[in-house]
Amino acid sequence: MNLENFYLLNYAWIALAVIIFLTLVILKVRAPYGRHTNDKWGKMISNHWGWFWMELPAFLLFPILTFIGPREKDWLTWLVVGLWTLHYFNRTIIFPFRLRTRGKKMPLTIVFSALFFNGMNGFLNGYYLGYLAPEDVPGITVNVVVGLAVFFLGMYINQGTDSRLIALRKKQEGYQIPKGWLFKYISCPNHFGEIVEWAGFAIVAWSIPAVTFAVWTLCNLVPRALNHHEWYQENFEDYPKDRKAVLPKIW
Ligand code: NDP
Repeated sequence: MNLENFYLLNYAWIALAVIIFLTLVILKVRAPYGRHTNDKWGKMISNHWGWFWMELPAFLLFPILTFIGPREKDWLTWLVVGLWTLHYFNRTIIFPFRLRTRGKKMPLTIVFSALFFNGMNGFLNGYYLGYLAPEDVPGITVNVVVGLAVFFLGMYINQGTDSRLIALRKKQEGYQIPKGWLFKYISCPNHFGEIVEWAGFAIVAWSIPAVTFAVWTLCNLVPRALNHHEWYQENFEDYPKDRKAVLPKIW
């Protein structure tokens, strides 16, 4: 595929993300996994293995395509692949098996659709770095430094708040109102952190597929956070009134 067609594919992929975002927000569709899971979507599998399989294509495709591609590997390539691998090693291998959700299942429909979307995002980023990116990479630029700071801040927020949510099940079964730290301001700081993390990644990588992935993350996670926020309000009468869904004080 040449660069022009690759860019067109990215634009089409971004357009699809925006369509999915508008559909999820306007029709208030709740993707049926986690707290919104139900058996109306066909065959179900264990949520631990569901997470593993749906994240695996992104985890593997990006580094594999980067390394089998003919393009010379420079320091920025190693850095970008390293950041991706750091995130996806946790999301694919560690996170799914830390969940304290006994016997919980998710529909195979979700697993297959996420497997496809994650695979496509891994493919776009890997194909670009393996085959298409320019080879004259400059030394360390401001965007690399700023992007790294944003990436690690996002990762810290995402993993720190995922851990707090998982720990809620240590004390008692079932759902509780999360309290403290960023939960004071928003219902889903883990989703907020992930959005920040991939924005940082796009700033470091400074490439169209990295921006495409950041847009996909935003379009996926804002509706999910809105669904979670609404679910908390429906299920807890004493849910804090001034808490927003995903953007402190705004949304
Ligand atoms: P949730 O916040 O819904 O759940 C995370 C874990 O914490 C689950 O085990 C959940 O249990 C448990 N949990 C959550 N809230 C409570 C509560 N109030 N009381 C008790 N237990 C709770 O996260 P998601 O499933 O939406 O996402 C998980 C991770 O994956 C996040 O870091 C998210 O950013 C990331 N993600 C990234 C996407 C992307 O496009 N890049 C897409 C989707 C997710 P249970 O499963 O029973 O609800």
